[in-house]
Amino acid sequence: MSATLIKGKPIAERIRAQVAEDVAAIGHIGLVTVLVGDDPASDVYIRLKHKAAVAAGIDATDLRLPEETTESELLAKVEELDADPQVDAILVQLPLPKQIDEAKVIRALAPAKDVDGFHPINAGQLYLGEPTLVPATPRGVMAMLAEHEVELSGAHAVVIGRSAIVGKPMAHLLLQQNATVTICHSRTKDLARHTLGADVLVAAVGVPGMVTPDMVKPGGVVIDVGINRTDDGIVGDVDPGAADVAGHLTPVPGGVGPMTIACLLENAVRCARYRRGELAYPA
Ligand code: NAD
Repeated sequence: MSATLIKGKPIAERIRAQVAEDVAAIGHIGLVTVLVGDDPASDVYIRLKHKAAVAAGIDATDLRLPEETTESELLAKVEELDADPQVDAILVQLPLPKQIDEAKVIRALAPAKDVDGFHPINAGQLYLGEPTLVPATPRGVMAMLAEHEVELSGAHAVVIGRSAIVGKPMAHLLLQQNATVTICHSRTKDLARHTLGADVLVAAVGVPGMVTPDMVKPGGVVIDVGINRTDDGIVGDVDPGAADVAGHLTPVPGGVGPMTIACLLENAVRCARYRRGELAYPA
């Protein structure tokens, strides 16, 4: 193995320590997470987020609603939280049960309380190059690249995946740093032709080991966002053998995962600053 491992944990710990200082200075930050149903993976994510929020001093409420909750019941709950002055930040864990339209629920969030950064206004602000609340995972990736002083200006960045949660915001953040960005997805032909030219390759697909060593540019930076549960435990989207070719590689687990939670807490601080008028949310 020749690649330098970009580990998330030490960077995430620093961010979380800063969040704890910010929370202490602000006094109170109210975060409400809403989980509808009992999806086991969502339950794990919510627990991790809570543990981290509480450790940082955030006043976190873990709201659980039954699987059969209707769309109008959830919308009414979101409206109640939007109006609650004790609530700075709201997170509705996705995916939602099939009877509920996720897009409607996301649109119902007060944009300045949308800690995940999924509301169309927050997405639009990012695409305009005037970011407000930005999804935590791609923000975490940018922090990792900055920590390792990866030159992005003029670099060719290739993002595999175009979800609203990871791929699209990732591409825009890289573009803002003046990278030349290619977005690949399930209909992309000859994926390797694109990835082999990538100075920075971000894989956010959800297919274990789909990026093989022969798809990686020698010396390139490879960021593995994938979290895939397999019989061999949690694995990424990148074959670990890529470490023989890449210059930098994020491990799975212990790479992007810890950064997501740390950046989510940073977003909660930002929500609190919006609510207190310390930061202006665009009118
Ligand atoms: P998604 O299913 O919404 O999107 C996957 C994307 O991959 C799609 O845009 C699709 O076009 C693309 N894709 C699918 N098959 C492809 C193929 N063969 N070739 C090229 N592109 C292909 O998933 P998501 O929510 O963006 O998550 C992606 C992965 O990242 C998952 O493994 C998820 O668990 C993980 N994830 C990790 C974190 C973290 O904190 N590390 C956070 C969010 C998501």
